Amino acid sequence: MITLIQLNAASQAEFVQLLDGTYEHSPWIAEQAWAQRPFLGLDQLKLALVQVVRDAGREPQLALVRAHPELAGKAMVSKTLTAESTNEQGKAGLTDCTPEEFAQIQQLNADYNARFGFPFILAVRGPRGLGLPKAEIIATFARRLDNHPDFELAECLRNIHRIAEIRLNDKFGHSPDLGNLVWDWHERLSTHSDPGYAERGELTVTYLTDAHRACAQRLSHWMREDCGFDEVSIDAVGNVVGVYHGTDPKAKRLLTGSHFDTVRNGGKYDGRLGIFVPMACVRELHRQGRRLPFGFEVVGFAEEEGQRYKAVFLGSGALTGHFDMTWLDQKDANGITMREAINHAGLCIDDIPKLQRDPANYLGFVEVHIEQGPVLNEVDLPLGIVTSINGSVRYVGEIIGMASHAGTTPMDRRRDAATAAAELALYVEQRGASVPHLVCTVGMLEVPNGSINVVPGRCKFSLDIRATTNEVRDACAADIRNALKALCERRGVHYKLEETMRAAAAPSAPEWQHRWERAVETLGLPVFRMPSGAGHDAMKLHEIMPQAMLFLRGLNAGISHNPLESITNDDTDLCVRAFQNLLEQLATEQP
Ligand SMILES: [Zn+2]
Repeated sequence: MITLIQLNAASQAEFVQLLDGTYEHSPWIAEQAWAQRPFLGLDQLKLALVQVVRDAGREPQLALVRAHPELAGKAMVSKTLTAESTNEQGKAGLTDCTPEEFAQIQQLNADYNARFGFPFILAVRGPRGLGLPKAEIIATFARRLDNHPDFELAECLRNIHRIAEIRLNDKFGHSPDLGNLVWDWHERLSTHSDPGYAERGELTVTYLTDAHRACAQRLSHWMREDCGFDEVSIDAVGNVVGVYHGTDPKAKRLLTGSHFDTVRNGGKYDGRLGIFVPMACVRELHRQGRRLPFGFEVVGFAEEEGQRYKAVFLGSGALTGHFDMTWLDQKDANGITMREAINHAGLCIDDIPKLQRDPANYLGFVEVHIEQGPVLNEVDLPLGIVTSINGSVRYVGEIIGMASHAGTTPMDRRRDAATAAAELALYVEQRGASVPHLVCTVGMLEVPNGSINVVPGRCKFSLDIRATTNEVRDACAADIRNALKALCERRGVHYKLEETMRAAAAPSAPEWQHRWERAVETLGLPVFRMPSGAGHDAMKLHEIMPQAMLFLRGLNAGISHNPLESITNDDTDLCVRAFQNLLEQLATEQP
């Protein structure tokens, strides 16, 4: 076991020796990181090593990847792997493959090397550090064969950093206990899934189904029994509400939380992270017998994703007084009204208006969420501070030209609706790229009843625009509408355009954003600011109190709303510690 004190005091040669085996056959990484001593913590050391590799450029990076053995390859068979690799491949069960599995992996190794020219690298101890199942390793291998070569090189490097992280944890005898706790809660909660999906091993939890109510029970149980919350209840819309009193039970509260419903076949971490991270903080406070000078209210919101009923932010909307009573008559796919679902769950509809919170009783709202995008993954940083939740506007439209024979209609006589829509889509892409953090998408394009031998007479499309401010969003929308009008006039076609959704941008409250920044700085990590491209419960709370969010890096290019959604225990541990830092700051600020 080595210590930071030892490492910080080491000569360059000793330093390299102490970190030997962290990066496979690549002592140059430790050699270069040595200059950055002293390291305040293990997290800083890890980041410094990552930075050396980032700065090294493509050739040394390729050499680093090539310094690794093939997975279950010749080196494993001939027992010439490093001790570290033997340990990892053993933990993942690769040292006892069946002949079929072994043959399959050899084929994948050959295909992968032929396509990319370097070996496949996967941190086989996985996001929890305990070893991935063989089937998952093989599936990941096969999936990554389709990646772009540049992306795949970066993905190999990210896996190498994860391998190094786990090796360093072993060297330092470090275990990310808070991260493990939160990670394991996610795993346990994900065993509840709606019928039809559960059988296929897919995660789907929609509003007030049996699985949804089981999740609410599970959350309240953990809040009460494992964490020591003072009050735990399930409110009239199914939100799980836990309160940890301050020294004065009547003191103002910090409000936090996120949603526990999921999209269909979704991921385990979307929403739930923002419930479990503050739960872990309360658990630690309770274990220490500590009270804060303010109350702490953690809400597991019952509904955010709008899957069973067309009512998004139902859970957080009830807290802001925006629960729309006409929603109660909406029917789900089986004809069950929301009113029936709420009654069936034993919840009291008459109590819904009472859920509205008085902002005077709260300090503010914070939310932790997975990023759901590729940015943190790409910059190799575990945490990001949200500057604003993007405002958005959506349209559906249709261009109407004239259907005509593909053989007999000369090119200069056509009124092709699809090429007009294509021109629009290219303009949308170009306009979106013209402003940082503005994003525009034509996600649906359809030629109704199109034929191979007919010039398209109609083309339907959708348009989604998101920006950090309403002004940027609206200027973009106006330009796109003008461009659509102009190109349709020029092409002799006409169009319909209908606005279907509009949501205001929710910029973070500066003082709360700053608290997150200091919380991350205190961990010795760089402050990385970014907008949120997706909507979150914080957007709803923004309407009545100051709010700010913290993002956690997702693996697999940050994929979300997908079973591949993933986070590591080490990143999660940092996230809990950042939240603890925020609570400490608030505690010192209170009179
Ligand atoms: Zn979410």
